[in-house]
Amino acid sequence: MLCVGIRKQPLSQASKAEAMSVLLSQSSRRFARPLTLVVAVLLAVVAATGLLAIQYRQERQAADLAHERSRQVLETLDRLRAVIADVEAQRRGYLLTLDPSYLKAYGISDESVRRDAQALQALVANDPLQNHRAGHLALTVAAKLREIDDIVKTAGTSGLAALAMIRSLDEIRSQIDQMVDHERFLLVDQEKRAKVLEQRKAWLIATAIVIVAVLAVVALALARLEATRRRKAIAENIALHGDLLARDKKIRRLVDANIVGIVIWNLEGRILEANDAFLHMLGYDREDLTSGRLNWTDLTPAKWRDRDARAAEELRRTGTVQPSEKEYFRKDGSRVPVLLGGVMFEQGPNQGVSFVLDLTERKRAEEALRQSEERFRTLVQFSFDVYWETDAQHRFIHQEFADNLADAPRSGSEIGKTRWEVPYLEPDEEAWRKHRETLDAHLPFRDFELARLAPDGSKRYVSVSGLPMFDDTGRFVGYRGVGRHITERRRAEETLRAMQAELAHANRVTTMGQLTASIAHEVNQPIAATVTNAEAALRWLSARPPNLGEVRDSLRRIVEDGKRAGNVINGIRALINKVPPRNDRFDLNEAILEMVALTRSEMLKHGILLQTDLAPGLPMVKGDRTQLQQVILNLILNAVEAMEGIEERAGALRINSEREAAGGVLVTVRDSGPGLDPADVERVFEAFYTTKAKGMGMGLAICRSMVEAHGGRMWAGANEPRGAVFQFSLPLEQDESVQARLIRSNPAA
Ligand code: ADP
Repeated sequence: MLCVGIRKQPLSQASKAEAMSVLLSQSSRRFARPLTLVVAVLLAVVAATGLLAIQYRQERQAADLAHERSRQVLETLDRLRAVIADVEAQRRGYLLTLDPSYLKAYGISDESVRRDAQALQALVANDPLQNHRAGHLALTVAAKLREIDDIVKTAGTSGLAALAMIRSLDEIRSQIDQMVDHERFLLVDQEKRAKVLEQRKAWLIATAIVIVAVLAVVALALARLEATRRRKAIAENIALHGDLLARDKKIRRLVDANIVGIVIWNLEGRILEANDAFLHMLGYDREDLTSGRLNWTDLTPAKWRDRDARAAEELRRTGTVQPSEKEYFRKDGSRVPVLLGGVMFEQGPNQGVSFVLDLTERKRAEEALRQSEERFRTLVQFSFDVYWETDAQHRFIHQEFADNLADAPRSGSEIGKTRWEVPYLEPDEEAWRKHRETLDAHLPFRDFELARLAPDGSKRYVSVSGLPMFDDTGRFVGYRGVGRHITERRRAEETLRAMQAELAHANRVTTMGQLTASIAHEVNQPIAATVTNAEAALRWLSARPPNLGEVRDSLRRIVEDGKRAGNVINGIRALINKVPPRNDRFDLNEAILEMVALTRSEMLKHGILLQTDLAPGLPMVKGDRTQLQQVILNLILNAVEAMEGIEERAGALRINSEREAAGGVLVTVRDSGPGLDPADVERVFEAFYTTKAKGMGMGLAICRSMVEAHGGRMWAGANEPRGAVFQFSLPLEQDESVQARLIRSNPAA
């Protein structure tokens, strides 16, 4: 189903072959330089040997020529000597006998003697010495012959003289001998040279043999190199072919395994072949495919047609198209996201193969991941102000600040720095040291608080938490964590702390301030009584006789009034002073009445009707009398303030105390004021909740905490028919833990 001629693969094999040839050319290049050298040396040796051979040949020819010439010279000289001997015998016979037959017996003419002499001259033309001698010989021969001829013509005059003359032919012989000697000498010399030439010939032959041998070796080496190269190329070809087959098998397996969709198509858009995975992905069956109905253009939503046109163009141009994402229509009309890549076949015009990967799951996972990230971001955005990461050296590598974060540092300005390199004011050295120890031990940390300077010079408090990160091998790679701006919280805490401290004191002082009139009234009463009694006593003393009994009575009343005033003052001092919590046993009704007495003038001033309904015989209560009086006082004053503004009717305040069914005591303060908004019933107990222009919103919060410190409860509700009800209950048996709570909660302590 898949032909192996996919362009990519031959390409890669071609590149392998190319790599191979490059490899070979590299190796032959490696050999090329020494080979060139060898060939150059060999050529030089061959040339030199050739030259020597030519030279040898020339010299040999010259030597042979010289030898031949010498031989001819010697022959000529021998012949000349014989001719001269004949001439001499001929002439001497004639002269001794005067018999003319002697002259004919030899038949030798002077002419032939002369010819030989000239021939000799021609032979030795190249040898100046011999030439000279030959010339001289020719002349001597000619002269002697002429002389002898003259003697013969005048024969008989002096036979003996003539004989003597003939003997002078010895001179000619002597000259001939000289030339023969010289020529023989030359011959010896020539033979020596011939020997030298023979030696040279032997050398030349040896050199030629060596050259031939070396050439044979080099040729053999080159032949072997070439053979190796060819062997390698063949092996490579076989491997490539095997590779190709293996690849083809793999591709077949891939197609049949149906892990990815595989489609064979033509550029006109027809799907010619597809595996089950592809058909399944799109909800088609094999019949749809064989009927030829499947067309990639129809399968593609309009949105992707442009992309397909571009891909087709790219395929035409380059033969391949990079994988990219798109969508297909399924048979049921729904869409499937896919990853698609393809190549053209080398054979088969306009045909190619594509792989198609179903991305549905991946897209779903991506979407889930995106949503999870979004959720995480939302969480971070609303939970934290900073998200940060540091590396193994504790340097910031990532920071994200909440969008609405005021005074966030410039993005990236802290990257690459450690936390202690960015300007922080707090915490102190010791806290930093501990923090560094935690970091160096790679331990998690929580709520490490530090402060930084805001541009306006104020401090911003940040609370940082972090977890160490480790890689797969357990190596520490850094920290990841969050930071929260806690400036507001810190300020609120500081304010609350300050206010609580203030309030424990100021609440009483302020209350006292408001109550100055009643206090004055309370204290004034005994003082005025004291003054009245003292005046009475003085009057009784100045009577004649003084009435000492009356004086005593007056003085006793003065002492009682003084004590009463002292008690009031003590009570007030106890309220004002910051005294440690006490653990009294006291009568609750009495404590209530004292507070009623303190506020009576206030109530009178605002025309408020007071009704007290205190259960008689209540058991003694254990706790801090002053604190619980403060609670009652606060409830009375709140009620008075609530009813202050009501003009149309007189306010009514009712204070009850009773025994609870559960065993404790219950105190109820009701008023006829505007009452509480049902939504705010619980809020009134929150710190700083107030509806008053000058209110602090701390009174009820403190009251509830005091009651709870005594093991009791406090709550509010609506009064019938109007107004508010505030109630608190106290248990009767106070145990040790209540005492402990009491001590802890006392803000004044
Ligand atoms: P504040 O000093 O501001 O009065 P409190 O904690 O004592 O603080 O009271 C909180 C708020 O509860 C008051 O501002 C007021 O709105 C409401 N409140 C308290 N007592 C009464 C009451 N008797 N009737 C109506 N509202 C009350």
